[in-house]
Amino acid sequence: MLFHSTRGGDRGRTFEEVLMQGLASDGGLFMPDSWPQVDLNLLRNKTSFIEVAEEIVPLFTASSFTRDEVVQVLQTTWHDFSNKDIAPIKHLKDDQLILELFHGPTAAFKDFGLQLAAAFFNKVLIKNNKTAIVLGATSGDTGSAAIDACKRFKAIKSFILIPDGNMSEIQRKQMTTIDEDNVFTLRIEGTFDDCQDVVKAAFNERSFLKDDQYLLAVNSINWIRIVGQICYYFYASLKASNLNEEYNFSVPTGNFGNVFACYASHKMGLPVNKILVSVNENDILNRFFKNNDYSKQKVNETVSPSMDISVASNFERLLYDFYCNRDTKLCNDLYEDFPSKSINLPNEIWEKSENLFLSYSADDSQTISTIQDTYNKYNYLIDPHTAVALYAVKNLNEDLDNKTFIISTAHPAKFPSSIAEAGIELNTTPKSLAEALNKEEKAFNLPANKDLIFKFILNNNS
Ligand SMILES: *Cc1c(COP(=O)(O)O)cnc(C)c1O
Repeated sequence: MLFHSTRGGDRGRTFEEVLMQGLASDGGLFMPDSWPQVDLNLLRNKTSFIEVAEEIVPLFTASSFTRDEVVQVLQTTWHDFSNKDIAPIKHLKDDQLILELFHGPTAAFKDFGLQLAAAFFNKVLIKNNKTAIVLGATSGDTGSAAIDACKRFKAIKSFILIPDGNMSEIQRKQMTTIDEDNVFTLRIEGTFDDCQDVVKAAFNERSFLKDDQYLLAVNSINWIRIVGQICYYFYASLKASNLNEEYNFSVPTGNFGNVFACYASHKMGLPVNKILVSVNENDILNRFFKNNDYSKQKVNETVSPSMDISVASNFERLLYDFYCNRDTKLCNDLYEDFPSKSINLPNEIWEKSENLFLSYSADDSQTISTIQDTYNKYNYLIDPHTAVALYAVKNLNEDLDNKTFIISTAHPAKFPSSIAEAGIELNTTPKSLAEALNKEEKAFNLPANKDLIFKFILNNNS
């Protein structure tokens, strides 16, 4: 199984190359050359999340690692989960199930993809006797999951840039209270965009790297993160119906990584009825699925900050695979003038989505009242991102024949002010979050100046 870019530039890449490169050199995203098929009958004999992952992950890694090597990596990949099931299911009512993906150490689903990414980064570094710098800008859960996943590997040094902005206190403290000598959290006097600009410049200049050192990105486009997320869709369906039911999946969506993992699972043989693309007021995806209008607008701060995006980077993978039938030229043309011009598909192509995708958008007050209603009715507390997904299910109910999984992406204790706004007293905080809240912050403050930031990295890159 080799990989190629959605825009046709890079071809014939191995898993290792795609893992370490992240984004394709033509600006496109890497895709597997074909969709490997999962043997559902084989999977039906499995019981644990790891056993499921042992069937999924090797389908994508064979160009670089033997099955035995991968199985060995997977034994220690997902760590520090507070629930031994890793991804437990809560039955809200007969036809609504919640897939709880927030039991990892940073209390958001990003642990699934980033722990797998870090484990394979480390595997490659050891094999090639090299070291790496991980660099990322984050406004939410990616940074903490990346730091946590990478901190146990001494061959990796992490530099995470965080802006002053819409991030909960706990989200920030998860990054600023890490006491490890291979982790540097940089509080930048600037916006998220300023931080991203520095990261982009860093990938061009690379002046702070030692000879032979890798520079790794932790954004949502690395293929390995999709692989980690595919595992839990199969696992959820296995546990709930022995892979026999065609569920709907409502996914709270920002950069479209989690939805794309659901779509990928379907292409690999998972029975799926509808995929609900659930968004907050930053609704570029809802405008696309409703009106064939994929156009960039400015970002609004919402109560579900991890989905505050202006464009959904992984959406390119869906455009390429589902709409363009893997025509790299067509995909390239569509992105030629984006985002200055919007993407509008020929109608006969766009209409295809109706068979598989539905979308809905929730504003802040709808999100908060969904938290409230769910608590009052079921005595079950959900976080604002999960509430966006549940709100979509309620509103699209008439179009949903089958049972629906609501993908719960974060623990409610990560967003205490929204819980308070819903008038609910928060009485459970996961141990890892409580510890972060009580520790002293030790971040490095720097202006949004790339030369000063590069110098900082260089000075700490010994
Ligand atoms: C990142 C994130 C999302 C959005 O996931 P995408 O894969 O970017 O669509 C949703 N909820 C939470 C809590 C997140 O951290």
